[in-house]
Amino acid sequence: QGKRERRGTITLFSERDKAQIQRNANIEQALRLADFERELSVFFQPIVRLDDCQPIGFEALARWHSASKGAVAPIEFIPAAERMGIINQLSVILLKKALQAAATWPPSLRLSFNLSANDINTSEGMAEIVKVITTSGFSPSRLDLEITETAVLQDLEKSRRLVSALRELGCGITLDDFGTGYASLSHLHALPLTRIKIDKSFVADIEHNEVSYKIVKSLLALTHDMELACVVEGVETPQHLQRLRELGATHGQGYLFAMPLASDQVQTWLQSQAT
Ligand code: C2E
Ligand code: MG
Ligand code: MG
Ligand code: MG
Repeated sequence: QGKRERRGTITLFSERDKAQIQRNANIEQALRLADFERELSVFFQPIVRLDDCQPIGFEALARWHSASKGAVAPIEFIPAAERMGIINQLSVILLKKALQAAATWPPSLRLSFNLSANDINTSEGMAEIVKVITTSGFSPSRLDLEITETAVLQDLEKSRRLVSALRELGCGITLDDFGTGYASLSHLHALPLTRIKIDKSFVADIEHNEVSYKIVKSLLALTHDMELACVVEGVETPQHLQRLRELGATHGQGYLFAMPLASDQVQTWLQSQAT
């Protein structure tokens, strides 16, 4: 069970596959009916310096409260919107909302925003993103755009060119989920990156698993040698923090510091950190 069998050209799906297919169809249907301006919102999770735990900025994380389905997680609705070819439309709405909120923050704080494959692989999609940024009044030099290796790999040459345009605007470019993709180191070289984010899966068992510890250690050494900034995701415990400090990691993000916050909670959180 749970394993797909192939007989000739007929594919037999397990009950679990069927449930997933049904769920995907439901999400797509709900997306078709959604009023994105109303139903989408953006939460913000601090990115902090690991020495004093003070924030350098926030990552925008999409939240969808569907009128028909209630809360749907981004790992479900973002891929669904990508399959439906409507992700760029969502990115535009989310980026506008994120920039609007970030405009009220102290100017020393940066905004990080996740782009999708379609945003960085099509000239039309990228033009929409650039338009939102340049008309927002928010300084592109305070903005970091997060891209994933999987997105880049769909068309390396094209995404390299389009992402370079963002870099030329003054935005930072972060490679997200680093270590989980098809990590060919040559991509690091080909892209105009300013920062990488080490995926939370490596941090989860850093205390108990020697291999994870060594992977984080070598990823940190690599980014250091390439003169890239680095953020470590998924810092959940004081033990994680201690290990990461020992390894010389400088920036992190995770539940230990804060959960993703609604935009109206950001000021209160900042005040609580300052005291
Ligand atoms: P991501 O960009 O790698 O974001 C980090 C995810 O880890 C977020 O999940 C965040 O809430 C979660 N997280 C933060 N701290 C911790 C921790 O200490 N432990 C653990 N286990 N998890 C932690 P979230 O918000 O559910 O987003 C999931 C993914 O959905 C994101 O991964 C990103 O790939 C995608 N996503 C979210 N918002 C957007 C968006 O606006 N646009 C696009 N294209 N993708 C988005
Ligand atoms: Mg991200
Ligand atoms: Mg990530
Ligand atoms: Mg991730």
